[in-house]
Amino acid sequence: MNHFSILDDIKKNEELYFDWTLIKYCNFSCYYCFPRAHSPKRSPFENELDVNMVNQAFGALKRPVHVNLTGGEPMMHPRFFELISRLTSDFGVSIYTNLTGDVDRMLDSCNTNNLRTIYASLHLEEREKRGKSFSSFIEKVIQVHRVGVDIRVIYVCLPSNLGRLKEICEKTSEAGICIEARPFRGFLRGKVYPESFRPEEVALMDPWLHAKDRLLLKLGRNFFGQTCSFGCKYFTMDSVGDVYRCYSYKHLDVPKDGSLGNLFNGTFQPKRRPETCWARTCICPYHGIFGVAANKLIKKLN
Ligand code: SF4
Ligand code: SF4
Repeated sequence: MNHFSILDDIKKNEELYFDWTLIKYCNFSCYYCFPRAHSPKRSPFENELDVNMVNQAFGALKRPVHVNLTGGEPMMHPRFFELISRLTSDFGVSIYTNLTGDVDRMLDSCNTNNLRTIYASLHLEEREKRGKSFSSFIEKVIQVHRVGVDIRVIYVCLPSNLGRLKEICEKTSEAGICIEARPFRGFLRGKVYPESFRPEEVALMDPWLHAKDRLLLKLGRNFFGQTCSFGCKYFTMDSVGDVYRCYSYKHLDVPKDGSLGNLFNGTFQPKRRPETCWARTCICPYHGIFGVAANKLIKKLN
């Protein structure tokens, strides 16, 4: 299972998909992290989250729902274990995590039938800086894999860590674990990525790239003028329940209002149908590629 097949399942099951930035706080501080994606400080709102209210709010939509928990580091949320227990009792859930939290407790807390995928980001340099070994990471990955929950290791490819990619991928594959090399997206030392990767760097990543990453490298991150389902069936949500069409509409200066109300106070209003994308950069191009229909784009490329 990969991020696309999760989204494909969501489409097939006619689920509403919420990419929920549960928390900004992160116990890591990766130098390449999106500028607004993590904070070393806790928010006073974290302790106020009412997990029963959250389930009621999703339930009130009267549609099957899939919630993708992201951050910051979602497992650092003070209510994470209660939340995952409640969410997985009623909805499909996936989690993006650096896997430094208590994996035993997470697995004990939730209905693993509804925990569809864990995306475990390796962040090797940051781990090593903090004295956390690669083997302890892999042990946790295997632990999740053993209970039958789909888990994928994500290796964010940067010019500085490409030299270690082959060795890491081979070790991970030996343990029977799927690994995805993901080209870094964003600004780094005055250059914009993935556009600035040199052909020889792309060749190093290539054996472990998923089709969606190859598409990303070919298509770039601009779907301006195309019709996208984000805002209609798929959404991004911040920690306090404010819902937006997507990350670009939340964070960039897009000349159309992307705010869709608040899920927790009952003002959330999705768009009636897929609409034109007015963003010049799709911050999360996996969403863009899916939202404008990957198949249509693949056909165009061929
Ligand atoms: S673990 Fe993820 S959220 Fe935390 S600093 Fe690194 S990239 Fe950012
Ligand atoms: S293509 Fe990307 S930026 Fe545009 S609406 Fe879809 S998800 Fe947002």
